[in-house]
Amino acid sequence: MRFAEVAVDAAVAPDRTFSYSIPSSLEVRLGQVVRVPFGRQRLQGVVFSLPAAPQVPETRDILSTSVSVPPLTDVKLGLARWISSYYLCSLFDAAALMLPPGGRLRRSTYYSITDPPGPDGHALSPYQEKVLAFLNGRDRASEEQVTRKMGERAGQALRKLVDRGLVVRSHGWAGTRVSRKTRDFVRVADAALSSPDGLPALSGRAERQAALLDHLRASGPPVLLADARKEYGSAVAALLDKGWLERETVAVDRDPLAGDVFPPARPITLTTAQDEAAAAVRAALDDASVSPRTFLLEGVTGSGKTEVYLNAVERCLALSRKAIVMVPEIALTRQTIERFASRFPGQVAVLHSGLSAGERFDQWWKVWQGEYGVVIGSRSAVFAPQPDLGLIIVDEEHEWTYKEHNASPRYHAKAVASVLAGLTAAVVVLGSATPDVVSYHRAQRGELRLLRLAARVASPEDGGEPEEQPLANIEVVDMRQELREGNRGIFSRSLKSVLGRCLQSGDQAILFLNRRGTASYLQCRGCGSTVDCRRCDIAVTYHEDKARLICHHCGYRRVPPSNCQVCGYHRLGYRGIGTQSVVAEIGRLYPGARVLRWDRDSVSNPRAYEGLLEKFRSGEAQVLVGTQMIAKGLHFPAVTLVGVVSADVGINLPDYRAAERAFQLLCQVAGRAGRGPSGGSVVIQTFQPDNYAIRAAAAQDYRRYYDRELPHRREQKSPPFSKLIRLLYAHTNRAACEREALRVAEGLRRERDSWGYSDVDVLGPMPAYPARVRGHYRWQLHLRGPDPRKVLDGRPLPKGWSADVDPVGLA
Ligand code: ADP
Ligand code: ZN
Repeated sequence: MRFAEVAVDAAVAPDRTFSYSIPSSLEVRLGQVVRVPFGRQRLQGVVFSLPAAPQVPETRDILSTSVSVPPLTDVKLGLARWISSYYLCSLFDAAALMLPPGGRLRRSTYYSITDPPGPDGHALSPYQEKVLAFLNGRDRASEEQVTRKMGERAGQALRKLVDRGLVVRSHGWAGTRVSRKTRDFVRVADAALSSPDGLPALSGRAERQAALLDHLRASGPPVLLADARKEYGSAVAALLDKGWLERETVAVDRDPLAGDVFPPARPITLTTAQDEAAAAVRAALDDASVSPRTFLLEGVTGSGKTEVYLNAVERCLALSRKAIVMVPEIALTRQTIERFASRFPGQVAVLHSGLSAGERFDQWWKVWQGEYGVVIGSRSAVFAPQPDLGLIIVDEEHEWTYKEHNASPRYHAKAVASVLAGLTAAVVVLGSATPDVVSYHRAQRGELRLLRLAARVASPEDGGEPEEQPLANIEVVDMRQELREGNRGIFSRSLKSVLGRCLQSGDQAILFLNRRGTASYLQCRGCGSTVDCRRCDIAVTYHEDKARLICHHCGYRRVPPSNCQVCGYHRLGYRGIGTQSVVAEIGRLYPGARVLRWDRDSVSNPRAYEGLLEKFRSGEAQVLVGTQMIAKGLHFPAVTLVGVVSADVGINLPDYRAAERAFQLLCQVAGRAGRGPSGGSVVIQTFQPDNYAIRAAAAQDYRRYYDRELPHRREQKSPPFSKLIRLLYAHTNRAACEREALRVAEGLRRERDSWGYSDVDVLGPMPAYPARVRGHYRWQLHLRGPDPRKVLDGRPLPKGWSADVDPVGLA
């Protein structure tokens, strides 16, 4: 008998596998995706080991192996093991991250009309009638299908209909919806061409067949079967039957970069500082014994970090190894792709969620076959099946988007990259102008090697040699003073005058708002209460262009009410500044100024984003107003002014990283100005001009910020001086939610005390922020300590709880 330890797609404890026997008819390999019986279900699983003996006396057989999914490599199995135990998820959930697109089967709930039809005579609501009508005439429909058509309420209606015996529910696996795409062509058969008499004569009645043959023999590009059919009808089938034509099936490559032209670029000569940094990385690539193998490349925007990445990738490829380059936002991949594709033509693949399912599928498989030297993508690109991995680059390593926070496993791509590099002897380069405090602390302790690029380099587009370019001029405006002197407007006098001058001289400006909380919301002038979402305890945001209030959590929208729902008072006023009100204010102050607005509403996808960017780059628009998305990595030489409309927002949130985030954002924003020959100025408006994060950002001085931040962290026992695990519970009933949170917190404290783990703190429970989302109340608690995981001791979380290890914030 042969045996396999299989991770199954079920809610089981981290690291847990189950023993199965391998029937003699099956060839089962390590890492293979299989189907196994599990209780009364049949589930997908991944083979994690092939031991000599099972863990239990009785085993069931593996049912089948998957032919469409390649086995996971040893490296990927090792990575999945780490993810499972570190992020407290099932081993299958971890392994599924590494399967090809469509490789994981999804369980779905299906509904169909009871057969024979259920009892009549129920009084159904008109809506329930509609749902019933939708199901009528269909074999079955998945819950997602019904809700997509009938709206969110459908779920509830379906359950009612099931209770009444009118509809039955079943479960099934949604099959792979994405696969290779092929197209059929026709051509003249070799036999027909090479027969000594040429092609046999065709009788007069076969005129169309003759015409088709002539057409095809005149060579030219291959003819699509479908096109031939359209033009020649049944003649195609007739000739195929006679064997004079052949059908040819060709795989189509859905390439996201197809049709893009990247002018080839030759390597530039690195400055001394850049070359020193690149040499350190190259040395590690050349020699596997160099340690540490993770580098933190600290350099202001424009200092040439990307040139160092390019140089390192070049060496990696020369050593016949491959690279993964990660960027924080899909929207930003474009600029990175352009630079890498120009330097390494034909060698660049793209993997991120902005691709179509087909593009992702084709890119994944071509990467798997080793066709690309470089994969560029966002968070999930760390799982790209790059063989012979030699180098992983994480650009803007401090960005929070590298952390998955919506779905389990809640992994951090940077942490995954470092474990992956350990398993493959690859080198990691983390780059940032404003490193994550935890990364910097690790560099200080020698766990990472710090490389610095101190100066900004003038762009070669301006001609001449690269030379050091001064950073922009930064002014911090005290908005309290503005108020005291009677200016209640959005813009300080200082920002107004600089903006006026900038527009007059034909330069460009960027005005920036921190998204969190800057949007405008509706507040009662009587009792002060805000208009909140019905399902989420959070103020809904006013969207002027739609004249609707919209919840940014769940999408709920409503017409603004005229009376306060709490006290009934009829005077409600708008509060807060949104991008729209900034645009309106510019229009009022400078009629005729051409303004672009950029936030999640105006830029819904990467393509819309590119159009907008192009408008700004070409000079068609003079002012760009946006949220933090514009803070990241864009290069606009003609921008001479950056205005931060309100720097404070978010800085006082109950979150140990609030100051870090504010500092990072402000530095990045300030880095947008003065990238061209005419230099630039930055105006930061704030109500807290003395805040250390704001002052350090104004000085563009990372060390100054870090030196003030670290003592705070030590005092508060925050990371890097501890690790955090956030446990979250959600329930539709407020009291039940709180009760469960208290119960679990109590249990964890008892557990901790009985083991004597005095270095673990159990914080909370407390309501999460927002306290309610999509109708679910949320309570949370935090485990804090050098190794808080030990309190959980490898058991599965209680039902309904989710874990977030190293959460990006406390809120
Ligand atoms: P970062 O990635 O740190 O923001 P970049 O690599 O984008 O910096 O460099 C900013 C600009 O300066 C780019 O246009 C780049 O081509 C140019 N540049 C950087 N280093 C050099 C160099 N050694 N010689 C010429 N141009 C350079
Ligand atoms: Zn909501």
